[in-house]
Amino acid sequence: MTAPTEFAVVATEGSFDGERYCAGPLTLHVDGGRIREVSTGDYGGAFEGRGVSVVRGAFVMPGLVDAHVHLLLHGVPIEGPSRAAHAKQPVAALLEAARESARQSLRYGVCHVRDAGDRYAINDMIRDEVAGGAMGMTKVYSAGIGLKRPKQYGAFIGLDVTDHASIIAAVTERNVRADAIKIVLTGLIDFERGAVTDVPQFAIEEAALIVNAARRCGKRTLAHCSGLKGLQVATEARVDSIEHGFFMNREMLALMRDRRIAWTPTFCPVHFQWTFPQASGWSQAVVGNLRRILDAHREHLRLAHEMGVELLLGTDAGSMGVEHGKAVAQEIRRYVEAGLPLEAALKAATTSNRRHMGLPDTLIAPGNRFEALLFEESPFAELTALERPWRIWSG
Ligand SMILES: [Zn+2]
Repeated sequence: MTAPTEFAVVATEGSFDGERYCAGPLTLHVDGGRIREVSTGDYGGAFEGRGVSVVRGAFVMPGLVDAHVHLLLHGVPIEGPSRAAHAKQPVAALLEAARESARQSLRYGVCHVRDAGDRYAINDMIRDEVAGGAMGMTKVYSAGIGLKRPKQYGAFIGLDVTDHASIIAAVTERNVRADAIKIVLTGLIDFERGAVTDVPQFAIEEAALIVNAARRCGKRTLAHCSGLKGLQVATEARVDSIEHGFFMNREMLALMRDRRIAWTPTFCPVHFQWTFPQASGWSQAVVGNLRRILDAHREHLRLAHEMGVELLLGTDAGSMGVEHGKAVAQEIRRYVEAGLPLEAALKAATTSNRRHMGLPDTLIAPGNRFEALLFEESPFAELTALERPWRIWSG
């Protein structure tokens, strides 16, 4: 039996349309996968009277989008050895793992993800499978195979480039199928020192070469980047989004706002290290560093919001302890803890993420495609409700 193409959805407590929260009942009339009509109030009875089926819940909003995941990695198991064993599997097994990540994402109401790079371009394959009609998986916007330097961080998310010719080839040939280009600009944070200690993998001129080559192909760039030196390179090269961006400052945020560079702060992986220090065997001193890093990150997110920096919301799902799908609600909670209104966090996780990737809007408005979540409880009353969508229309 197939679901009817015409139906009504009644949210009795409230709604978020992709930009704003609205308290009170809302009725949506959906037909052929599009929203035909949006009415304030409960008109379920009128639709039932006409023989149109009605789905009732407490709260409706557009489907979630995660702007930073790695589908081929799993957030669990969390122990180092089994993570390393996972990564060493043949590509066919990793492809199946990525499918499972894509299924799990959708089960949590994450209807679209941006995969931020993998060395096998499994992200491109999953995108094509879903676009080709494979069911039950989240849709994918893929950053293909990242660009990194030999013997530097990022072996799993990218492949090496050396001279200018190989940089151009990595953008124009190796990543023909990618939707965006990922630059591995800096390494991981050294939690023991509480700092980013390595130098950026690319100088400003080389990073700009990547950005410009990508633009000529009509593609945007995203840069894995933390620490002031890397942030300076990223902002001077005018990448389209800075991923992670730990050790941010006000000056960088002002440049990002003025140059329209978006920010995906990805609290989740560092927050997990702070919550479960035993997973990596961190000492009390390191736990202190983690807390300081998270507090400064919170402060800069609040500042970025006030200053009008374009904010995306991504989790780095696949990192240790960061589970696909489930992590989006956790990242939203981090934004709220930083002092952002829930509306702003939800806008980042829906409309802003989609607009940055150039995807059609799913604002709850007449004429738009119906890609939405229905909850039994309003997240504006109970934030954990976000973890439990009970109806998901993924479009
Ligand atoms: Zn990542």
